[in-house]
Amino acid sequence: MLMNFFRKLMYGRYGSDQLSFFLLILYVILILLSGLPHLGILSWVALAVLLWDLYRMFSRRFDRRRAENARFLAMAGPAIRWVKMRRTIHRDKEHRYFRCPNCGQYLRVPRGKGKITVSCRNCGASFEEKS
Ligand SMILES: [Zn+2]
Repeated sequence: MLMNFFRKLMYGRYGSDQLSFFLLILYVILILLSGLPHLGILSWVALAVLLWDLYRMFSRRFDRRRAENARFLAMAGPAIRWVKMRRTIHRDKEHRYFRCPNCGQYLRVPRGKGKITVSCRNCGASFEEKS
């Protein structure tokens, strides 16, 4: 019954995407921060963010919303990749990660092999690295 109601409510509406998820997280962060002294004003900013998020989800202008989301992904892409890379590095205890000094590509070597020569699989440059 309730699910039916929501399905009808969202019919023909844009719904959620990565940007709407980001806005929701931003809303929660702002609400938490607004609990701190002198930051009460942030609860209004949070409300504005939430309203914008809801507006996007209930919008019927799919083309515009998709374009916004694409712009958001283009801006957030490097940050998202950085966070994913940090998580991989943190979880992978078997390898040491570093960037190629020549092209900046992420490379990994097995840990505990002493000094080894690495060749970059992206640009082919060779260099010495502690593992
Ligand atoms: Zn390289």
